[in-house]
Amino acid sequence: MANYYTDQPEIQFHLNHPLMKRIVDLKERNYADKDKFDEAPVNYQDAIENYKRVLDIAGDIAANIIEPNSEAVDQEGPHLIDGRMHYASKTLENIEATRQAGLWGISMPRQYGGLNLPNVVFSMLSEMISSADAGFQNIWSLQSCIDTLYEFGNDEQRAKYIPRICQGETMSMDLTEPDAGSDLQRVMLKATFDEKENCWRLNGVKRFITNGDSDIHLVLARSEEGTRDGRGLSMFIYDKRNGGVDVRHIENKLGIHGSPTCELVYKNAKAELCGSTRMGLIKYVMALMNGARLGIAAQSVGLSREAYTEALNYARDRAQFGKKIITFPAVYDMLSRMKAKLDAGRTLLYQTARYVDIYKALEDISRDRKLTPEERQEMKQYTRLADAFTPLAKGINSEYANQNAYDAISVHGGSGFIMEYKSQRLYRDARIFSIYEAPPSFRL
Ligand SMILES: Cc1cc2nc3c(=O)[nH]c(=O)nc-3n(C[C@H](O)[C@H](O)[C@H](O)COP(=O)(O)OP(=O)(O)OC[C@H]3O[C@@H](n4cnc5c(N)ncnc54)[C@H](O)[C@@H]3O)c2cc1C
Repeated sequence: MANYYTDQPEIQFHLNHPLMKRIVDLKERNYADKDKFDEAPVNYQDAIENYKRVLDIAGDIAANIIEPNSEAVDQEGPHLIDGRMHYASKTLENIEATRQAGLWGISMPRQYGGLNLPNVVFSMLSEMISSADAGFQNIWSLQSCIDTLYEFGNDEQRAKYIPRICQGETMSMDLTEPDAGSDLQRVMLKATFDEKENCWRLNGVKRFITNGDSDIHLVLARSEEGTRDGRGLSMFIYDKRNGGVDVRHIENKLGIHGSPTCELVYKNAKAELCGSTRMGLIKYVMALMNGARLGIAAQSVGLSREAYTEALNYARDRAQFGKKIITFPAVYDMLSRMKAKLDAGRTLLYQTARYVDIYKALEDISRDRKLTPEERQEMKQYTRLADAFTPLAKGINSEYANQNAYDAISVHGGSGFIMEYKSQRLYRDARIFSIYEAPPSFRL
């Protein structure tokens, strides 16, 4: 039976990387959870076996539920009914399958019901889910917004929101507005403190919000009256259970049809401040966007892989001039370039994820105890590497995904242009990867 994990030995190869031992040791903090949680690993080997089990389960769901649903999701898309977004029916099936399999709260500590998996494994899961359906990967991988809440929220907020994500509630990050796209310093959605109710209130409009009718939103808003730049912005948590936000419009898009892109109207919506005021853009959204960039890098690798597989299978099957087209140098040369981009892009993605894992694990440890001078040095070194590599992994992989989707159509000839073949969908889906979460005008 098809499985998006076991079908790609390259993924498992990356689990053997020498840095994995350090990552697992830091993430598991000397396997301290083993006495508290049945599912916690007892040593390094056990942790790696655990990762493989989760990847195997996700690989099965990706190949046998999400991928078979992808065409119907592309055709149906989400619906807007009375100010609420309703997913395509097969998207609901995908969400339910990932919930049943426990694939939510991937990175969160076990005390909140999470799996405590490192970023590199999250990226592998993301890659497989995106291969099956890049639009659905958006909905699933936005769960990583919880990392930002975990890092900057207080204990009460952690205890309130993290278990909900671990149980499969969804997230969104509400940054963009009609006049604030690349230039988020222009954000004008207004946050005012309601003295009577002792809470913040949000008023305004957000545009292009992926999964915008999610359960828990992280929102960038202007809390400092009279300011016009990034220093007047703070980050808020909006809980859909409180109401106050309606979906005004769902965009009709070129691709990723299953991923709802929403225009939201905030009307006096109750919200909680996350972290300190004024640090919204400068600190928290930067962290949020770096997480999202890694997610898009994984989304891109997943789509590159699907484009390559589609092209390879077609070239093996299709005959012209009495021979399979894969035997023609022009075709196999194109396929080898696709594979080289896939392998190189994937290596860059996982290496970046490993850098992120080391510095984040050390940062997390520093919340509980003082780091040694060596650990502090290590954290600094890996933070620098992660900062430099994250935009590269996103930028290069999003361009490679577009190039591989283009080449997959070329390998298919005229059939590549026909709607019955998957290549056209991959080509449409890939186009957004280099646009959202982009460093301005990144081009390869
Ligand atoms: C499908 C989809 C999903 C999205 N999901 C989300 C989401 O979940 N949350 C969210 O907050 N936003 C989301 N966005 C918004 C997305 O991040 C923005 O569209 C993107 O940041 C670009 O902003 P813009 O569209 O306003 O373009 P603009 O900022 O108007 O840019 C137009 C052009 O000018 C270039 N440009 C702008 N500034 C510079 C500069 N300083 N130097 C050089 N070139 C520059 C840009 O690169 C681009 O080529 C989504 C958008 C889409 C289409």
